Amino acid sequence: MTSTQGVHIHPAIDQGIQQGSPGFSGGVLTCHCASNPVKVRIGAQTAHNHVCGCTKCWKPEGADFSQVAVVARDAVEVLENGDKLEVVNADAPIQRHRCRDCGVHMYGRIENKDHPFYGLDFVHTELSPEPGWSPPEFAAFVSSVIESGVEPSRMDAIRSRLRELGLEPYDALSPPLMDAIATHVAKKSGALPA
Ligand SMILES: [Zn+2]
Ligand SMILES: [Zn+2]
Repeated sequence: MTSTQGVHIHPAIDQGIQQGSPGFSGGVLTCHCASNPVKVRIGAQTAHNHVCGCTKCWKPEGADFSQVAVVARDAVEVLENGDKLEVVNADAPIQRHRCRDCGVHMYGRIENKDHPFYGLDFVHTELSPEPGWSPPEFAAFVSSVIESGVEPSRMDAIRSRLRELGLEPYDALSPPLMDAIATHVAKKSGALPA
């Protein structure tokens, strides 16, 4: 059996996963700036929370994975210091709005109405002190952590630790989300009735 001793996935879950609270209705995300932090209100519970190994998501210092969830874009409101927000890459499908001073990503937004996930913003709920957010359910783009410099020989231990935490590791998104993307594509092409 592979030892999972000393494997760190993400600080919010390394000690175990906190369950969400029924009826939870959101909270305020705050960036890492000591003064004039950017604050963003999320006015709803999140969905599809997961840890992600891609190189685009914002990760806390030292973490190999990000933790990222989605919420309706209508539920996302910049409360304070929005003038410090900048888009990381305006050409990317997900426009990640980060604080230009501390680098923390406050929300990722899709402006292309044809994108399968249009209408959903991507957020990191660990930036909020409120407990009760939906917990991560799976691990996405696991093999991609190698692109950030993780030694390939560590992958067995990383996948074992993810399974130990109850987060099934996938090298893309989870099957339900991959199915949702494919369904969107098929309806657009006419392969399935719209
Ligand atoms: Zn900041
Ligand atoms: Zn990612």
